[in-house]
Parts: sequence; structure tokens; C-alpha cells
Amino acid sequence: MKRLFVLCLLISLLLTGCAESEPLEANIFAMDTMMNIRIWGEEATLESVCDLIYKYDALFDAHDPQSDIYQLNQDGFLVVKSETEQIFAEALKYSKETDGYFDPTVYPLVCAWKNAQLTPPSSQELLSLLPSVGTEHVSMHGATVSLSDGAGIDLGAIAKGYTAQACIEHLKNCKVECAIVSLGGNVQTLGSKPDGSKWAIGIADPSNPAKSIAVVQFEGSMALVTSGSYQRYYEFDGKKYHHILDPKTGYPAENELSSVTILAQDGTMADAFSTALFVMGLENATDFWRSRNDFEAVFILKDGTIHATEGAAPLLSECEFTVIKR
Ligand code: AMP
Ligand code: MG
Repeated sequence: MKRLFVLCLLISLLLTGCAESEPLEANIFAMDTMMNIRIWGEEATLESVCDLIYKYDALFDAHDPQSDIYQLNQDGFLVVKSETEQIFAEALKYSKETDGYFDPTVYPLVCAWKNAQLTPPSSQELLSLLPSVGTEHVSMHGATVSLSDGAGIDLGAIAKGYTAQACIEHLKNCKVECAIVSLGGNVQTLGSKPDGSKWAIGIADPSNPAKSIAVVQFEGSMALVTSGSYQRYYEFDGKKYHHILDPKTGYPAENELSSVTILAQDGTMADAFSTALFVMGLENATDFWRSRNDFEAVFILKDGTIHATEGAAPLLSECEFTVIKR
């Protein structure tokens, strides 16, 4: 009887402890964006997650003279740190898998668009840079990376996804069972919420990004990454120029899409694919999805319609949408 009482007490303590627990939260600015981290865990663990984000920000920022990427782009040769080696290996892998639609060697093009400030670069300039773009210009032997003349690396399309994934791995190692990291357009969850409610993540409305156009609801661990032309752009002569470039033309990708959200288990992959599928356009992106079974996608078109792959559809709420079948 006494043993039963102790057991009941333990179970009720565990249950009430979980149900009432509130997450610890941090809001930080890193990788050029606001980030929000919530963990059901200890203060020291939350701090260690923030430190990890700052560390990766410093390593991967192509514009920070202290970073591995800056030094590699300057010298064309570097023995990189192990984290950089790992993200490079993944970047090259996903570039190959997406047939170069995601391509970390877009750096010369990104610079041309940045240097031109608010005026687009000339077509001659872009044409002259295209031969330096392509992963054949990168060679990697372990941690030793070298680039061909004129080539450069930009990890902007994958760094946040890789960092979110690393945060989740770190939290698992710290025995945290429930957390959500929101790094700009990259959201990644770990486990299910202690109060039993579902995660509910809004997909921004491209025509009014402060509002959600749809909500994704689910339980458990998942990465959701959005790439959209509304996220960064400028206007020149009445035309919008956004930040997601087609590595084959040098220009911002131009098709029917306003945004692509990828749902996957791996944050790095979700980030690489969100960029790649945005560049592909709806038809190629749908074919790509059909050729694999490790992610789902939600497409917002310029006409405001929403198209969701079969596996994403049951998770979508607060919107009307067309289902893309296998
Ligand atoms: P994301 O917002 O994840 O789609 O990444 C966009 C950022 O990645 C841009 O600001 C560029 O720095 C870089 N980028 C642009 N186009 C590409 C591309 N096709 N492949 C890889 N990186 C790109
Ligand atoms: Mg991306």
C-alpha cells in the first residue's frame, strides 16, 4: 500500500511538473536576423545554445574578416575548422542533389548584386561572373579547401538551417526533451510540448509578412524553413530584385513562386531545399519532391494561391489550398 502511494505521488509530481512547466526563452540577434529560442530545460543550457549560435555566426559569415569563409574567399585556400568542414560537405552534397539550383558558389554573384547597391549589375558583368560559379571550382580534401581563381563561397542559404540542426543536436545531448528554435525564417522543434498541445507555426503571407497566410500544426520534432522573395529585396525602375539567385543566369529567380516552405527532419536539408525549390519553380520543384520521400513542401504563388504536397496537406490549417499528389 505504502509503495503504491509513493508511486502515485511520483507519477502525479511528474505529471503536474510537466504540465505546469514553462519554457525558458532567449531573444538574440545573430546571422543578420532576430532569433527566438525556447527550451523546457535549464538556464545554463539555454545560454549554451545562444553561445553555439554566436560561434557559428562568427565562423560562417562571409563578410566577417575573422570567419573561415571570409579567409577562404580572400586567399582561395584554407584549412578550415571542423564545423566549417562539416557544413561544406553538406553544402556540396545538397548542391549536387538539387542539380546546382542550391549552389554555395554564388558568392561572386551575391557580391555583384551587393556592390551595385540599389542599381542592378549589368548583364555583361553577370555573364562574366557565371564561369566562376559551380561546385567544380571547390576542392576539398578533409579540412583543406581550395577554390579556383575568381570563385567564392556564400553559405547564406544553409547557415541558419545548419545552426538550427546543431542547436537541436546539442539540446538532445543536454537531455532536453522539448525545445523550439526560431532563427529568422528557420524554425525547428524538438519533441512534443509538455502540455500536450501541438506546435503551431505560421507561414508568412508574402504580401503582408507580419501576418500568417497558413498555419502548420504538428506534434514532435520537425524543421520548417521558408525561402521567399519578400524576405529581402529592393526596387529599381518599378521592378523588384530579391536575394535568391538563379546560379544559371546570375539574376534573381523569376517564376510563379512567392515562397517555398520545406518540412523535413533535417534542418540543413530543409534550408538548402527551400532555396533550391524556390529557384526551380513550381513544376520542377514538384518533380523533385516526387523523386524523393524525405521532405514535404508548401508553395505560395504570386497569385496568392497555396499548393501543399500530400504529406504537408494534413498539417495545414486556417487556409484553402490545392493538394499536390505523388
Ligand atoms: P535563403 O533565404 O535560405 O533562400 O538564402 C538566400 C541567401 O543565400 C542569399 O541572401 C544569398 O546569400 C544566398 N543565395 C542566393 N541564391 C542562392 C542559391 N541559388 N544557392 C545558394 N545560395 C544562394
Ligand atoms: Mg535556404
